[in-house]
Amino acid sequence: MAILISISSLSDKEGFVDWGFAPVAETGEDYRRFREYISRGENADMKYLAKNMDKRENPSLLVPGARSVICFLAPYSSIRSSVAAFALGKDYHDVIKEKLRRISLHLSQECAKHNLEYNGRCFIDSAPVMERYWAAEAGLGFIGRNNFLISPEYGLRTLIGVIICNIPAEWLGERREKIADGCGECRRCMDACPEGALYAPFRLDARKCISFHTIESREIYSARPVDYCGQIFGCEICLRACPYDRDSEGWEELRTNAEEILSKSPQDWHVMDKKEFKERFGDTPLSRAGLDKIKNNL
Ligand code: SF4
Ligand code: SF4
Repeated sequence: MAILISISSLSDKEGFVDWGFAPVAETGEDYRRFREYISRGENADMKYLAKNMDKRENPSLLVPGARSVICFLAPYSSIRSSVAAFALGKDYHDVIKEKLRRISLHLSQECAKHNLEYNGRCFIDSAPVMERYWAAEAGLGFIGRNNFLISPEYGLRTLIGVIICNIPAEWLGERREKIADGCGECRRCMDACPEGALYAPFRLDARKCISFHTIESREIYSARPVDYCGQIFGCEICLRACPYDRDSEGWEELRTNAEEILSKSPQDWHVMDKKEFKERFGDTPLSRAGLDKIKNNL
């Protein structure tokens, strides 16, 4: 009898809204676009993105013997504020990784029953992994012109957790069909971008992007390189313009600070000291930018 390792109930139990898998193969179109993005210098000073390109292309270099890429969709809220919605609660890296690790432990126990020495690693937006590409290959959505994974069923308020492992894809069940591009003639995201950062389909120049300048850039600016449009951490203008964006509650852990953040005035942020910031937001995505940067963004 063929071996079948079931993941659906575990994925449900952990609160993921969807999951799927794809056999490991060389990455295609999305990787080519990524290489071109790097070669045009549109990654600004996010130099880490240009590292480990070989691993990004070939997951077997990250996990020796890798045969499957399993992807899970974690929903976050669509709450509107000057802080990007994914950053209104606990750090999603920690929240999602804990859930992936529990699933990975189950996979290793299942493999042991079938005399396979499990080798798997969990990834969430912190390693050279083409998450969106693999999620699209796994049939969870299509990559929109805004570069996000778009699930026709769950929209685009999802983060992608990935397990790369040596389990043969055929042990995981029947692979889903890929979802066709759903952007059609739409260009709302590009038209909505106030700085022209999303200047063509799939082309985003981080040097003009509010998200980059308010989160990733380490610089404390004396003069702003772009208009922040009232944003103090991230920007979701192009997301909100997308017809696939819809109201979402998302996981509670990822919005635990929403009320507090929404009630803060610029003055509240200005008078906050580092001790208070660490106590209140030390385990949240806001710590990536840090208090000085947030004050600089006000
Ligand atoms: S995040 Fe904001 S600045 Fe960046 S591409 Fe989208 S709309 Fe433009
Ligand atoms: S706004 Fe339109 S073009 Fe942009 S990602 Fe959404 S559907 Fe695609």
